[in-house]
Order: sequence, then structure tokens, then C-alpha cells
Amino acid sequence: MLESYIGLGSNLAQPVEQINQAINELAGLSHCRLQVASSLYVSRPMGPQDQDDFVNAVVQLSTALSAHDLLDQLQNLEKRHHRVRERHWGPRTLDLDILLYGDQIIQDERLCVPHTEMAKRSFVLYPLYEIAPELTIPGMGKLKELKENMDGGDLKKLDSNEYRAQQS
Ligand code: AMP
Repeated sequence: MLESYIGLGSNLAQPVEQINQAINELAGLSHCRLQVASSLYVSRPMGPQDQDDFVNAVVQLSTALSAHDLLDQLQNLEKRHHRVRERHWGPRTLDLDILLYGDQIIQDERLCVPHTEMAKRSFVLYPLYEIAPELTIPGMGKLKELKENMDGGDLKKLDSNEYRAQQS
């Protein structure tokens, strides 16, 4: 078993529900154990602004799967959420990314780990820091420093009352 960190995002079809359901599904994957899930965060979309806000979270998943088998499982989950990708950076029902896979650096035609853009995204760094503040990201440095240098801007952590409001 090694520790992987998965980033989740959704801005379609009741995003809070999509993310909570996806966290449960990740917990049910065979050869995996969900260790901890961050709070949910709301952010403005990157790219085209004529779409709803995103809900994001990060989970720590212990896994005995290879990185590529884990990616297959994540892509199956995305399909089960009827993910539609209409355009790059457009709206999506569920997006699952492997942020970290142990301390491995993987670069091939299917996988780039650590996820290339993670150090530039507050909606990844903030939830990741919430659950694993001591992490060092291979090739990128200490998470604490990356997060301190990142403007949280319009990122908003949802509290449990707001979950309910968003879901109703
Ligand atoms: P997107 O859904 O737009 O984030 O991109 C999906 C594509 O990114 C898939 O074809 C994956 O093979 C590829 N990919 C590369 N690195 C990763 C990663 N670390 N996690 C998830 N997908 C990745």
C-alpha cells in the first residue's frame, strides 16, 4: 500500500452531491482504503466564466493498485457520473485527478504525476494542506510554502450548513 492523493471537482448536476458520492465510491474501491477527506471548497471556474462555480475536495487514498490501474478506476467513476466534456476547461460532472502517487514521479502518455498544474491551483493546495500539511511534493517543494505563496482569492470552504443549502 502506498499513499495517493486524489483531487475531485464538479460544477454540474448538484456538485456537492457529486463530490460526496464520489468520495464514497473512492472509499469502496477494491485494493484501496480511504484515509481522510478534506472539506469541500467552492471556487470560480478557470477559463470560461459563463459556467457555475466548482466544488473541489482532496482525499488521501492508500492503494495497492498501480498508478495506471488507479487511473483506470478513476476514469470508470467519472464515466459512472455521466461525465460530459463539452470543451476544455468547460463544465464537468466529475473530474478526478491523481495529484500524488507516493513520492513517485511518473511521466508518460497517460499520466503526469505529481499533477502538472497542482502547484498553481488554490483549490488543490488548500484542501491538500488541510489533510496533509507536512507533505513535500516531488519536484515542487514543501506544500506549506507552496500554499503560503498562493493567494486563496475567492476560494471558500463550505461549512456543513452550506452543504445542506447547496444540496436542497
Ligand atoms: P482532464 O480530465 O481534462 O483532467 O484530463 C484527462 C486526461 O489527463 C486523461 O486522458 C489522463 O490520461 C490524463 N492525465 C495525465 N495525468 C493525469 C493525472 N495525474 N490524473 C488524471 N489524469 C491525468
